[in-house]
Amino acid sequence: KIQIKSGKSRITDLAKSSSTSEAGDLIRYIRYNPNSGKSLQGLYKELERLGFNRLQEPKYPLGQKEYFLDTHLNDVLLCFHGSTNWWNDNDWYTDGGIILQDKASCMPAKVLMWDWNGGEGECIDATAAPGNKTSYVSALMNNQGKLHAFERSPNRYKTLTRMLEKAHCKNVIAQRADFLESDPQDKQYKKVTRILLDPSCSGSGIVNRLDYLLEDDVEESDSKTERLEKLASFQLQMILHALKFQSAKRIVYSTCSIHPEEDERVVTSALQSKVAKEKGWKLAPRSQVIPTWERRGREDEMAGDEELAQGVIRCLPEDRTNGFFVSCFVRDDPQGLSIS
Ligand code: SAM
Repeated sequence: KIQIKSGKSRITDLAKSSSTSEAGDLIRYIRYNPNSGKSLQGLYKELERLGFNRLQEPKYPLGQKEYFLDTHLNDVLLCFHGSTNWWNDNDWYTDGGIILQDKASCMPAKVLMWDWNGGEGECIDATAAPGNKTSYVSALMNNQGKLHAFERSPNRYKTLTRMLEKAHCKNVIAQRADFLESDPQDKQYKKVTRILLDPSCSGSGIVNRLDYLLEDDVEESDSKTERLEKLASFQLQMILHALKFQSAKRIVYSTCSIHPEEDERVVTSALQSKVAKEKGWKLAPRSQVIPTWERRGREDEMAGDEELAQGVIRCLPEDRTNGFFVSCFVRDDPQGLSIS
């Protein structure tokens, strides 16, 4: 049974624990979408026309008419005061030149496409709707090649296709299908080298932001422990399935959960699995996973292994993002793989 919730009750605890999540201090992140064919310079000009001043450095709190380029995603992400809504009825928004997307939610695509060489191969987004990360991966592929996008839910699949059209994604092959039913040995995925896995989670990291609806594949009546156990078991199953893709060499697993049960513990179990060992998967080092992001994983939840914990990213509201987790599995080029 699929449930869509507003998630408000879960907002409270996080918001209380954060010293910087006051409404006036929230940042509205806007991602420039190169797939639109519009230029970033054009966006700067539009903002100037609207009376905005571009700052060279981050500033908190931001003024209503100020913005700056994000430090970690400085090629696409613009940071505004949390209450600005200049994009309403603006062509840049209606034509898909910009996309409203939280900073943490941009990170998985960025990590997935680290060191991407255009001729490398194809990608999969295993859990795509509503499609924010899909459209960012598509843009990082320069809207070329093939990005296979899976979405299981019929309603969310409709949302995904609308989103992909609005975002001018021409390289995405979307299918309403269960990723777990895909065949990792299927010829059509032979060239897939990178897989994004952002499966359903408890959504415990979502703060007071409007970009998200939460979906859980669990019953409301389940206790918290039962809910987390069910989610973690599903998340692990998804990772283990992804690890079997014949030509894959980079798999990003992310959640908008702050619970280690869905984050570090799932990753640690995946690393200890038979398939990971047989197929030579390990965790990517920090140097490949946005190294300048300070908040890393919880060592105590990764068998006390500092190197593993350094390889993963955690985000919290005090980082001015949603609560989030990003990890990345890698292996050397699978034997016999020759992608041209
Ligand atoms: N990555 C998306 C984005 O940034 O816009 C958000 C993904 S959301 C957290 C998880 C999505 O995965 C939901 O739309 C859910 O219906 C879908 N999903 C869950 N299990 C799936 C499966 N086995 N195969 C395909 N899609 C699945």
